[in-house]
Amino acid sequence: MAQLKILVTGAKGRMGQAVIHSVESDADCAVGATVDMGDSLDEALSKCDAVIDFTSHHFSNELVAACVKNRKPFVMGTTGHTAEELETIREASKTLPVVLAPNFSVGVNTLFWLTRQAVRILGEPFDLEVVEMHHRMKTDSPSGTARRLVEILCEETDVSYETDTRHGRKGDVGARTKKEIGVHALRGGDVVGDHTVVFANVGERVELTHKASSRDTFSNGAVRAAKWLVSQPAGIYDMQDVLGLK
Ligand code: NAD
Repeated sequence: MAQLKILVTGAKGRMGQAVIHSVESDADCAVGATVDMGDSLDEALSKCDAVIDFTSHHFSNELVAACVKNRKPFVMGTTGHTAEELETIREASKTLPVVLAPNFSVGVNTLFWLTRQAVRILGEPFDLEVVEMHHRMKTDSPSGTARRLVEILCEETDVSYETDTRHGRKGDVGARTKKEIGVHALRGGDVVGDHTVVFANVGERVELTHKASSRDTFSNGAVRAAKWLVSQPAGIYDMQDVLGLK
């Protein structure tokens, strides 16, 4: 079978480098082209079957338009999208298969599953908080993974992500309300990605933690997603679909 030729965007970045390594380590795939700031997308896309993108959400509208024009499915690993940018991705998924995932690691996707089970079992008496830590260069906050964890908690409780989440606390903010979900972003050093979901009640506390120590866990997952994606019909998928967890 012919190798799947992948366009790696953000090729000079931390994740781009990890993706190139993962693609080159997989006998079924090859790097068809790479782009970074200022490179032509159309020419690179013409050499490839699919795209793996870990860049910046500011680049997404341009990339998505080029993928639609050239009819190339894409794996969107970039996080921090605005509602308008997410809508552009959803619109593209009407004509192309797309994987959009805040985290491509198998461990984090297990954490997503465990978080849903835990909140269902522990229920309303438990206060819910999410803490994440990433390296000092990360620009968006909270992380896409922390946001997804909070969304799962919201989906299982009568809570809105838009109005009930509290991003950090400062000053005389008053006692914690029953509904609020605290979200806290730590930044420093070279931390690849730590996430903890805290379920706290009077007298006991449960914490679910995932720690990534290598970007390969994300890039290997993204390559797995690209290989899966090219045989899917148009639609928007996440890593739970790729892993068959739904
Ligand atoms: P990085 O800053 O190291 O790399 C980003 C690269 O994208 C840079 O080389 C930059 O030049 C390039 N880039 C930016 N704008 C561009 C444009 N307009 N055209 C072409 N190239 C452009 O960042 P990183 O640590 O590799 O992270 C990249 C993204 O991936 C972030 O959004 C991060 O949150 C996300 N991420 C997602 C996962 C996941 O599993 N989904 C895991 C890790 C990181």
